[in-house]
Amino acid sequence: MTQSFRITLLPGDGIGPEIMAVAVEVLKLVGSQLDLQFEFQSAPMGGVAIDETGSPLPEATLAACRQSDAVLLAAIGGYKWDTLPRHLRPETGLLGLRAGLGLFANLRPATILPQLIDASSLKREVVEGVDIMVVRELTGGIYFGEPKGIFTAETGEQRGVNTMAYTTSEIDRIGRVAFETAQKRGGRLCSVDKANVLEVSQLWRDRITALAPDYPDVELSHLYVDNAAMQLVRWPKQFDTIVTGNLFGDILSDAAAMLTGSIGMLPSASLGADGPGVFEPVHGSAPDIAGQDKANPLAQVLSAAMMLRYGLNQPEAADRIETAVLLVLDQGYRTGDIMAEGMTPVGCKAMGEALLKALG
Ligand code: NAD
Repeated sequence: MTQSFRITLLPGDGIGPEIMAVAVEVLKLVGSQLDLQFEFQSAPMGGVAIDETGSPLPEATLAACRQSDAVLLAAIGGYKWDTLPRHLRPETGLLGLRAGLGLFANLRPATILPQLIDASSLKREVVEGVDIMVVRELTGGIYFGEPKGIFTAETGEQRGVNTMAYTTSEIDRIGRVAFETAQKRGGRLCSVDKANVLEVSQLWRDRITALAPDYPDVELSHLYVDNAAMQLVRWPKQFDTIVTGNLFGDILSDAAAMLTGSIGMLPSASLGADGPGVFEPVHGSAPDIAGQDKANPLAQVLSAAMMLRYGLNQPEAADRIETAVLLVLDQGYRTGDIMAEGMTPVGCKAMGEALLKALG
């Protein structure tokens, strides 16, 4: 029986529409192969939405996202909107989308593809075979805790304050996403905190530990964040799935991503309790190469694969797309950002055509 999914597309700005076009063709082809039907609807967000409606996240766009099964986002922003007041900036639309859909879990994979191993700044033997997923809590912790602000103390001195706070329910819900993610991967989960110093981290560790019996097939370990940072660059292969709070996750997910050395290859997923998740590349709108058919569409295509795996529960379709990406790299096709000696340079469109051929 044909399964049908409503997908809201947010192509956004810069290279966004170019890379989104490739992902949509890939999804259509995989859908036709596996009897999956995608109903796509595009909506404006970011700079393009500011130009059209005066708002980076129009009500109608958020409503369309809420009514869909998943949201595929490309990238937003650009020089043109950089000087607008904060509430009108493209990034404000992104925060509004996360808040509006209750997206508390951010999944950031860092996978070293054998074909791109030399793009990493670390030694081949250190990064070969690395396949890490960082699950970062996205809507709590020190970025949102109260009190926050810059206050004048009784001495007349100024004092900057932020508060790192997590409730048990906030920890439990991200913990469950992380355990379930580890189940879909290598079955190992490392929780990262600073429980030797911070009470909030002690609660984090206690709650994550308390969840473990519900997931007997997942092997749980704990690391302090300073040690985790060291281990990530010393021997990253020891990690499978990492779960951590907002601040530690912000830093560790970027460090893990850079093990791969190539920003045009990195997808991400943001998930809520129920309702649609948002799937998007880690990179920005690359205004410097927009409209020149130079963008690497693979992070966008891999984001579509994440959408199938984590948003729509279609692992076979996700596998097909990921296999096709490996195949085009094996065939030597490279966009400018991942170009290496002896490879075949292609633009965004030609990379898309190669992918369609690889999917067969
Ligand atoms: P960027 O990621 O857009 O670009 C950094 C560099 O990487 C550029 O040289 C760019 O050409 C290159 N690059 C990025 N993606 C590429 C791809 N798919 N293929 C080939 N090359 C690629 O970061 P930036 O230059 O700091 O930001 C540009 C704009 O994007 C800004 O307005 C920023 O606010 C916005 N931004 C948006 C997001 C998002 O939509 N989630 C994330 C980061 C930055």
